[in-house]
Amino acid sequence: MPRYDYRCRSCGATFELRRPMSQSDAPAMCPAGHEDAVKLMSMVAVTGTASGSAAPAPSQGGGGGGCCGGGCCG
Ligand SMILES: [Zn+2]
Repeated sequence: MPRYDYRCRSCGATFELRRPMSQSDAPAMCPAGHEDAVKLMSMVAVTGTASGSAAPAPSQGGGGGGCCGGGCCG
């Protein structure tokens, strides 16, 4: 059964509940008794490494010399 994090909007406390996925959007009750808690989007297993393809690909390649990119070879 998946766990979901919730945050109480009345007192600001965060807590987690284990409930079926079909009830993930059901109202949750704060441990302090408040009923105004919202679900947080915190997937525990999905942190980093998934969307890190920001490295620029080498645009100049195939020459093999390394000198023919800046015009120094003529
Ligand atoms: Zn509360």
